[in-house]
Amino acid sequence: MDRDHEAPYQYDTRLIHGQFRTEKWEYDHHVIPPITASTTFRLDSASRGRTGFVDFADPKHAAQAISPIYIYDRLDEPTVGMLEDMMRDAEGGETACAFACGMSAISAALMVTGRAGSSVVAHRTLYGCTFSLLTNWLPRYGMTTRFVNGGDPEAVVAAVDDTTRAVYLETPANPTLQVLDIAAVRRALEPINARRGAKDQVVLVVDNTFATPWAQRPLALGADIVVESLTKDVGGFGVDMGGMVVAPRRFHKSLKGFRKDFGGVLPPASAWRLMVYGLSTLGLRIERQTETAGRVARYLESHPAVGRVLYPGLESFPQADVARRQLVDPKGRFCPGFMVYFEVAGKDIEESRARCERLVNFIATHSYCITLAVSLGMTKTLIETPGLMTHSSMDSRALSEAGIHPGGVRMAIGLEDADDVIRDLDEAFRSI
Ligand SMILES: *Cc1c(COP(=O)(O)O)cnc(C)c1O
Repeated sequence: MDRDHEAPYQYDTRLIHGQFRTEKWEYDHHVIPPITASTTFRLDSASRGRTGFVDFADPKHAAQAISPIYIYDRLDEPTVGMLEDMMRDAEGGETACAFACGMSAISAALMVTGRAGSSVVAHRTLYGCTFSLLTNWLPRYGMTTRFVNGGDPEAVVAAVDDTTRAVYLETPANPTLQVLDIAAVRRALEPINARRGAKDQVVLVVDNTFATPWAQRPLALGADIVVESLTKDVGGFGVDMGGMVVAPRRFHKSLKGFRKDFGGVLPPASAWRLMVYGLSTLGLRIERQTETAGRVARYLESHPAVGRVLYPGLESFPQADVARRQLVDPKGRFCPGFMVYFEVAGKDIEESRARCERLVNFIATHSYCITLAVSLGMTKTLIETPGLMTHSSMDSRALSEAGIHPGGVRMAIGLEDADDVIRDLDEAFRSI
């Protein structure tokens, strides 16, 4: 091929063009990458089929023509492979493994890094289902979690003990948007890892769903593994679920092996849409959403019915310095993102909670361009109240420790006209 894939083309250009081939598949003649629909693959001989299963996902064989061959969709598949290559490059990692959704990616990352008797140290503000995974499911298999403030690297290190194999952070955190300093946590973990053998290293895992690789590249900041939901702004249109783990090469075999045996496979048609429609328009969408989010955040900050606004782009944001360093687009420009969190004011918590519910219910029944729905990162602006909805798996103590106010509202800004979003909000505030 004459075209130079290594030339320093810009990040957004690369998200559109990709590489025209994977290690196992060439599709250079296609302007739009092909989409596959074959659950199984023809084999030349029984022994070749056997080789495929035995050597499956062994990096020693990955680059060789014979192996691993495509055998069955759950093991490996061409269209999903293209998306994995794109995401690996977007995150700047060594290997990527796609999953059916964000939760299957997160559970895979935690289960391949841990084992019975091992522990996780996690930031205490997390996506509700991740919290439920760590507290309801992993303990059944002998894995426990200690929750700390991930914004305090010393507290993270203090919670690490001999059993700890993973530190798990979500930043910006859901729903409060707390920004955690990934590089500082990495530095704090270094002396611990320096004393440990290769097998016992504490692996730093970061959920990059809220920022997407457009606005934050955790691996470059010192994370070992990135997990993310592609269902959100990477997909961008709200039509497909998907998840991705991007990791060092040493996890390649275990991640692919985990997916082979636990399942959670991303359908090729979803992989294709996530790549062709989602990734190629990610920068464009997120920049527009971010511009609107900034306007909405400033509007909310000036509104008397609002107690507190948390948006990484506001001067008042508690971790404004870290945010400015960490949330940057591929050209280094500050990209505070499309999520906004605010608390409805009230004379006490109960009034604030009641007014919040009235606000959200008004929007649900009256708003044209703000929709009451969970999820985020779509063309449409979504609103929800975490204490009552997404984070209801947490009891009131866990909610308060995570900084989630009963009158808290989470907004995921879409691609509508900013004035229209503000008009619908304004009308809703007048109703409470
Ligand atoms: C949505 C989300 C997940 C889970 O992703 P799914 O694709 O819904 O399984 C994980 N983490 C964060 C931060 C999320 O917003």
